[in-house]
Amino acid sequence: MVKNGRVYTKEGLNSIDIWIKNGKFASFGGSHQAEEKIDAHGMLILPGSIDAHVHFRDPGPTFKEDWESGSVSAAAGGVTGVIDQPNTDPRTLDAKSFEIKLDRAKHRSVVDFCINGGPGNIDELVASGATAIGEIFSYEHSDAQLQKIFEEVRKAGKFPTIHGEDGEIINQELEAWKYLHDPGVYSKARPSRAEAVAIEKALIWSESLHICHLSTLQGLRLVKDAKKRGKKVTCEVSPHHLLFNVNDYQEQGSFLKINPPLRSPKDCSALWMGLREGSIDILASDHAPHLPEEKKDDIWEAPPGVPGVETLLPLMLMAVRRNLLSLERLVDAVSTKPASIFGLNSKGSIEAGKDADLIIVDTKRISQINADQLHSRADWTPYQGKEAIFPQVTLIRGQVVYDGDLEVRPGYGIFLG
Ligand SMILES: [Zn+2]
Repeated sequence: MVKNGRVYTKEGLNSIDIWIKNGKFASFGGSHQAEEKIDAHGMLILPGSIDAHVHFRDPGPTFKEDWESGSVSAAAGGVTGVIDQPNTDPRTLDAKSFEIKLDRAKHRSVVDFCINGGPGNIDELVASGATAIGEIFSYEHSDAQLQKIFEEVRKAGKFPTIHGEDGEIINQELEAWKYLHDPGVYSKARPSRAEAVAIEKALIWSESLHICHLSTLQGLRLVKDAKKRGKKVTCEVSPHHLLFNVNDYQEQGSFLKINPPLRSPKDCSALWMGLREGSIDILASDHAPHLPEEKKDDIWEAPPGVPGVETLLPLMLMAVRRNLLSLERLVDAVSTKPASIFGLNSKGSIEAGKDADLIIVDTKRISQINADQLHSRADWTPYQGKEAIFPQVTLIRGQVVYDGDLEVRPGYGIFLG
């Protein structure tokens, strides 16, 4: 039983007791016998978050992250389910590589998980339980290859998730900028136009699709127009594209090297607007950890990506407090909508019969983000010192997973294939 909290359900916020049985939400209110009680007096209770875009690096460069460190980081930030992306080593491209990752995740993850497959043997990946095919890095493929991949994904009854940046445009721009080393050149070498062109093509070539980490006003316009026409398209935005812009290279340099790159303040405003109005469907972290000694390199040498699974929800709870986003839209963007897009029917909301994944939040407890207190092996964060609201307790399937300490063994998380 979780008692005395203000619970976020489909009907809105309710002061109601939650009864959990066999890992599922059983009923609300009334009186029953409880073996275990959690008093959530004065707290907000939200459904667990689903981060649809993480790179846990496992198998592969596990010195940056592995299933255990990544998933503990997730749980500490209120993320109860993740979708891992296929660019590990080996890449998740067929039944064998899928099985290797699945085995590691099953033994190490503390949160529930999905695994995406890359554009390889798509039939094998789907049979193995891949959630979607992607993220497909559009700049790694020719137009003809992309069309072929989309067709195969469609035939297999799945949809692709796309990292939209056009390879031809990037390669041309790279020639013009590669001799300069001011970090800002990175955004010039990967212009907004590259995103717009890649999205435009994908919208034509794929019957249905999900666009990863949308970063530009132009890209957003294309998605909005396509939605108006009835196209089956959804998209996500990452906190780093909302909270940072090209001016932030000055302070953080190549640490803020990400793909797609930092954009203009105007793009940031457009993304906030898109998120608020729902034309951007979901929030996802694109958690892509690298070590500080790698990130401090020259802008062209440093690997792209920043850690973010643990700070995704805390930063956005803070955004709600600052009236940048409504609580309704936040819950929709981190729980309800990712569950529905990726077909996780047992997840995404607090209602009878669903998995009892919830977080308990004290909205008055504002803290400053400090890399020393985060759990990613990356050991740094671009959000150092920023204000955030971390959850007090994270439950997955009725079990307290994290409450300041890890309360389950690695391997508690189950595969949602
Ligand atoms: Zn990614």
